[in-house]
Amino acid sequence: MALLEVKNLHVEFNTFGGTVKAVRGVGFHVDEGETLAIVGESGCGKSVSVQSLMGLIPNPPGRITRGSVKYRGHEIIGNPSINGQEIRGTEIAMIFQDPMSCLNPTMTIGSQISETLQFHNGLSKKQSLIRAVELLTMMQIPDATRRAKQYPFEFSGGMLQRSMIAMALACDPSILIADEPTTALDVTIQSQILELLKNLQAHNNMAIVLITHDLGVVARMADQVAVMYAGEIIEQGSSDEIFYQSAHPYTVGLRSAMPTNTREITGRLEPIQGTPPDLYSPPPGCGYFARCPYAMDACEKVKPEPFNMSNTHYSKCWLQHNDCPQVVKGIYKP
Ligand code: SF4
Repeated sequence: MALLEVKNLHVEFNTFGGTVKAVRGVGFHVDEGETLAIVGESGCGKSVSVQSLMGLIPNPPGRITRGSVKYRGHEIIGNPSINGQEIRGTEIAMIFQDPMSCLNPTMTIGSQISETLQFHNGLSKKQSLIRAVELLTMMQIPDATRRAKQYPFEFSGGMLQRSMIAMALACDPSILIADEPTTALDVTIQSQILELLKNLQAHNNMAIVLITHDLGVVARMADQVAVMYAGEIIEQGSSDEIFYQSAHPYTVGLRSAMPTNTREITGRLEPIQGTPPDLYSPPPGCGYFARCPYAMDACEKVKPEPFNMSNTHYSKCWLQHNDCPQVVKGIYKP
């Protein structure tokens, strides 16, 4: 049984312009001690997917229309016998891209961490403040006793992110969802935060779901990678499979757009031309059709099902069909 299993998740938002189908049948699972990275460009539905399983989608305008989210085999969406509040925040915790907008500027860092401990763990104010200092020390914040009495504006970006991680880990969660945790940080601090997360994972055997658009971060952190496009996971596999045997043209395009240290100095990055489809009325066939250099007539009308390349690797693309003319003629060589 997977620690967290998401199946066929659909999320929509009602707006003045119509209904946006932001997440369209997303499914993944993550086990203890494993890191799953969900990658894709802005607006592809990665954050909405994880926010919906954390109960963070405001209804209205958003709503989960279909799907299942199981934690240790127990359904947590729409299950009256499960107290979602008990699982979210304690068993499953989340950290965000911009800690400054998530922390309360009028409360000290120590009080904010201790509030979490009092609410979820029932600790007294004194006990929770002692634990808050311990957590800040664990996050390698120097002089944690003094720092716990300071306000968010007195912290650097890296220290704020460490404080957010301390707050998320306060209840010793089994799963940490990290939504672009290093995007707002410079590369040195980014490296320190990623190292910290890896060490904490090794220590707690915690699962991490990492949301990012940075393939460098993925290569460093992930065991499994799910590539999202237009509200769907279009390719999923182990980190090696996605980086060395990527099959979907979108994944191949993402890799080509990434700088590498082997590319010639004068070599140009290859951008993916075009824009994602309008999710007010998603295309009936492949969502990547309008941008795909290998698109065939069938792709426009018929949605590709997942084609398995191995037990851990699938791609939703007609190019993986044995009789695909692009492959038969040798036109497509990822
Ligand atoms: Fe391109 Fe067709 Fe594959 Fe979609 S299904 S990625 S349009 S080849």
